[in-house]
Amino acid sequence: MAQADIALIGLAVMGQNLILNMNDHGFVVCAYNRTVSKVHDFLQNEAKGTKVIGAQSLEDMVSKLKKPRRIVLLVKAGQAVDDFIDKLVPLLSPGDIIIDGGNSEYRDTTRRCKSLKEKNLLFVGSGVSGGEDGARYGPSLMPGGHKEAWPHIKEIFQSIAAKVGTGEPCCDWVGDEGAGHFVKMVHNGIEYGDMQLICEAYQLMKDVLCMDHDQMAQAFSDWNKTELDSFLIEITADILKFRDTDGTHLLPKIRDSAGQKGTGKWTAISALEYGTPVTLIGEAVFARCLSSLKDERVEASKTLGGPSGVQFQGDKASFLEDIRKALYASKIISYAQGFMLLRQAAKEFGWSLNYGAIALMWRGGCIIRSVFLGKIKEAFDRDGDLQSLLLDGFFSKAVQDCQDAWRRVVSTGVQHGIPMPCFSTALSFYDGYRNAVLPANLLQAQRDYFGAHTYELLSRPGHFIHTNWTGHG
Ligand code: NAP
Repeated sequence: MAQADIALIGLAVMGQNLILNMNDHGFVVCAYNRTVSKVHDFLQNEAKGTKVIGAQSLEDMVSKLKKPRRIVLLVKAGQAVDDFIDKLVPLLSPGDIIIDGGNSEYRDTTRRCKSLKEKNLLFVGSGVSGGEDGARYGPSLMPGGHKEAWPHIKEIFQSIAAKVGTGEPCCDWVGDEGAGHFVKMVHNGIEYGDMQLICEAYQLMKDVLCMDHDQMAQAFSDWNKTELDSFLIEITADILKFRDTDGTHLLPKIRDSAGQKGTGKWTAISALEYGTPVTLIGEAVFARCLSSLKDERVEASKTLGGPSGVQFQGDKASFLEDIRKALYASKIISYAQGFMLLRQAAKEFGWSLNYGAIALMWRGGCIIRSVFLGKIKEAFDRDGDLQSLLLDGFFSKAVQDCQDAWRRVVSTGVQHGIPMPCFSTALSFYDGYRNAVLPANLLQAQRDYFGAHTYELLSRPGHFIHTNWTGHG
């Protein structure tokens, strides 16, 4: 008998937690998994005493669903999603909805939307952020795909999503095709940038100001009461003060070689593909790559010297405040770049994206959640067509208020031999963006010199000419 409001396939950590979250909000969920024994285990353990029901096969699962059927896939991204879709299609009726909540590549989502449309089925690709805790108690959800599906899933999605302010859900319809997964991908890229910026602040505190772990923990706790108030700053303070069983700090014992799963890299690749200067996320990805060359760096450290005899002479408290401002300004640049990429993708694919709603979706429930995202939402509320966050009054003033401090931090860091790929690329971007004249006139002349690529005179827009630069032939 049809009794379940929704089904979820994929009983790993994310799937189990999302089911329990939906159950808490009064929805009857039917659970299924490729390895069917896990359904029984889940019902006997984590889901014991809940309204969750299980299925022994896909046919059994489909028969237990109210119409239109709603089926969430939370399985390993890639082939597993296609395999389940292929098995589900013959079992479903027109208007039924398949939702992929995994970290799928946005182009795969667009492809699946097209193919399921031909079969009269609705498809939604939804970004789910916030890790296992988010899935359990309120994730950020970024659904996109066939908009006809939205009225049928909106209530469930918005009930289980994280809430901010006066109960606004961190979930709204994002846009057509792979827009939801694209937005999730940019979210993950921004997460890479935020984390690297914090790491650079940490190294400056440690190696320029020679602060100890408790002092650094205190600084991050203090910063968490300012514009930087965010989940990542909060956990950084906790990590810095955390002590191992032997009473010493755990952090310096951790191997400085960063891993990555790929979504930051996808963001950087998209930025290159669509010609958008998302430099900070690119640098954050490369910083992880450089960190992973641990053995090579250890060798290099034996022969390649840095600046000698440089010691910080200034006022430590005031430089600490400079670092905070450099972090804030760089973060503004990173988000400005991320939203530029969203804008460009919207143009490329004809998506109509609501940037304020996206900022609100990231405001809570996810790893980059912060008070700052509320300010971004306000900027887009003031002007929905805002070309760049840097052109909004609040953010342009914020960056300008920070810029002297930001320049002091980057120049001091360079003098001390501290790598700051994200602080410095953010500042370079700012200086590039605010300059009406860049040296690309020379670049155009060079291209014309060796390749007859032509150039445009400022005095004659739209008119391209070639010069014989050597005067020969
Ligand atoms: P996961 O380890 O990515 O995937 C495990 C699940 O996928 C299991 O149910 C497994 O079934 C199924 N599966 C794997 N290969 C399969 C195949 N070839 N055919 C059919 N089913 C297959 O699980 P997860 O960490 O819970 O993540 C689920 C999705 O959410 C992923 O796309 C992930 O990227 C995304 N996500 C994860 C997080 C996180 O913090 N973990 C956060 C956001 C998004 P069996 O039990 O039969 O092996």
